Amino acid sequence: MGNRQIPISFEFFPPQTPEGTEKLTAARKRLAAVNPEFFSVTFGAGGSIQDRTLGTIKQIHAEGHHAAPHLSCVGSTRENIRALLFAYRDMGIKRIVALRGDLPSGMGSIGEFQYANELVSFIRAETGDHFHIEVAAYPEFHPQAKSARDDLLNFQRKMNAGANSAITQYFYNADAYFRFVEECRTLGVTAPVVPGIMPIVRFSQLARFSDTCGAEIPRWMRKTLEGYGDDNESVQAFGLDVVTRLCEKLVAGGAPGFHFYTLNQAGASLEILKRLGYRA
Ligand SMILES: Cc1cc2nc3c(=O)[nH]c(=O)nc-3n(C[C@H](O)[C@H](O)[C@H](O)COP(=O)(O)OP(=O)(O)OC[C@H]3O[C@@H](n4cnc5c(N)ncnc54)[C@H](O)[C@@H]3O)c2cc1C
Repeated sequence: MGNRQIPISFEFFPPQTPEGTEKLTAARKRLAAVNPEFFSVTFGAGGSIQDRTLGTIKQIHAEGHHAAPHLSCVGSTRENIRALLFAYRDMGIKRIVALRGDLPSGMGSIGEFQYANELVSFIRAETGDHFHIEVAAYPEFHPQAKSARDDLLNFQRKMNAGANSAITQYFYNADAYFRFVEECRTLGVTAPVVPGIMPIVRFSQLARFSDTCGAEIPRWMRKTLEGYGDDNESVQAFGLDVVTRLCEKLVAGGAPGFHFYTLNQAGASLEILKRLGYRA
């Protein structure tokens, strides 16, 4: 249907096992065929998870792709964050997704940073303009926000601290995204806000994610998906239709790109992109 072809990026989590690493390498090879702008890798509190992020980033970089590590600051120290920033800079990494993150329950103190805007300021102070800094945006608002307005002002604070662009939490209601972008423009935030796209592969998993991160699955979708029960084929067919239509609306409304939450799988993201007219 002649959609505008906007830049795309793909997000992975760092695999825990050699088999996971092999599968991700294969998925990445397939995804690379649609010429993404970059591949990003999530980051979690805890030393071993952080080493896996660094390892996966090294691998992506060595394959010749643009790699963007996520970096969360909660529970961390300036010294720790500085060491990681310098390691990434020295490897030739040029883009970072800067986040507050969430501390797993029962785990340690909040650390030396409280909010993502402090991390953005720190990255700029330590490394100048070396990195393109992405931050997180929430068209349906962050679950801990005091109010929608506060969340928007806190987002503005992150951008003013020196972020270049934002990637949103996933959503299935395009109007929430359009409204959020409009509000940003009213506040003078002109940077690109790239929609985060979550393909629907397994309903139980999606419902679990959505309950914790505050992304709404509209009732009509939830009811339909629940109705399919264990029939994963129908879940996926419905998911592809709904998410493709969402992407079409986003392109038509001026979205500057798509960031796919791949969950380390290529199939659903590629099928959506194919339906949107991208060639692998
Ligand atoms: C694209 C994307 C990628 C992500 N990747 C990861 C990842 O790799 N690892 C991970 O652990 N999590 C990740 N997350 C989840 C994210 O860490 C959580 O949503 C976390 O709870 C908030 O992070 P943030 O950077 O948005 O925080 P912040 O921008 O700091 O906001 C957190 C909350 O605090 C409020 N707030 C912000 N600044 C202030 C302030 N100065 N004063 C008072 N209140 C304030 C906000 O309104 C919001 O409610 C990702 C989310 C997105 C959208």
